[in-house]
Amino acid sequence: MSDLAGAGAGERATYSRVMVTGGAGFIGSHLCERLVGEGVSVSCVDNFNEFYDPAIKRANIQVLDTDSLFTLHEGDIRDPDFVDSVFRKTEPEAVVHLAAMAGVRPSIQNPVLYQDVNVTGTAMLLETIRRHPVANFLFGSSSSVYGSRLKVPFHEDDPVDRPISPYAATKAAGELLCYTYHHLHGVPTSCLRFFTVYGPRQRPEMAIHKFARLITDGNPVPVYGDGSSRRDYTYIEDIIDGIIGALNRPHGYEIFNLGESQTISLRDLISLLEEGLGKKARVETLPDQPGDVPVTFADVSKARSMLGYRPSTEIRTGVEQFISWFKRGQ
Ligand code: NAD
Repeated sequence: MSDLAGAGAGERATYSRVMVTGGAGFIGSHLCERLVGEGVSVSCVDNFNEFYDPAIKRANIQVLDTDSLFTLHEGDIRDPDFVDSVFRKTEPEAVVHLAAMAGVRPSIQNPVLYQDVNVTGTAMLLETIRRHPVANFLFGSSSSVYGSRLKVPFHEDDPVDRPISPYAATKAAGELLCYTYHHLHGVPTSCLRFFTVYGPRQRPEMAIHKFARLITDGNPVPVYGDGSSRRDYTYIEDIIDGIIGALNRPHGYEIFNLGESQTISLRDLISLLEEGLGKKARVETLPDQPGDVPVTFADVSKARSMLGYRPSTEIRTGVEQFISWFKRGQ
């Protein structure tokens, strides 16, 4: 049964064959499910790396495994022969590139791996697309490229040349590479800057999911800084609507913020989780983390006007939906 059943009055995808890299991950699995549900043939590329338990990723796509429209291609985007063979077999009309090493803090411990997967991997994929042209290429970028800007909301034209984590630097580099491939080889590309995505199947190390687990188990909830940092949390259904909007509207080269355009402080987020879980958090206050930005806040007017993007999930509703999914797994 789909976690998204009955939800979202989003528009339908117009392509018949789409490749989703990182398709077994949090965002990718929701996208694959939505596309297959709309009759699109999906080739899912994923290497099931161990950033978090690969069994979770297998479970994410379990519902799709038996669907004839869905094909899993297990392998690494950094392996050009593998990627080339998937293109030959499946002839995708469009590619949504979500495969990456995600997460800010672990990138500080492992910068070279992040560079390898997120930049070299993206370059290898773009090289393959040069030989097998597609009608649209979407790159999963991140709000982290804005660095520690305090001037909000963030607009696509703001400078992004001061990333404060290796992860952010790799996403900014990925966007630059996308521009180069568009310029040299005419690949129609949109870079989508996602603002902290949450909802069913959220990655286990991300704030909402991790905090829900710690509160439920009665373990301390680490709060870095004074709890005043603010995030623009974006519900997964809104993100999937935004991706479909971008998929259906190829551009030359564009960048779009996909956020909710509302922020909540860490302190208030924990209160919402406490309310939903019916249990108090044992907050452990710790020093600010290097690499963490003080605020994210998306200006989504460009996505609204050019993609028809209409994010509509209030954080309270989204957290309630996350908690009911979370409780089912307990
Ligand atoms: P995720 O880790 O759940 O999904 C990424 C998937 O990519 C995983 O299934 C992983 O196994 C796969 N992968 C990693 N390296 C690979 C490789 N070399 N070859 C093939 N597959 C590989 O992460 P997510 O939260 O679903 O994020 C998806 C994308 O969105 C990522 O590019 C991430 O950087 C970006 N993003 C996510 C968020 C968020 O809040 N979740 C915010 C901003 C940007």
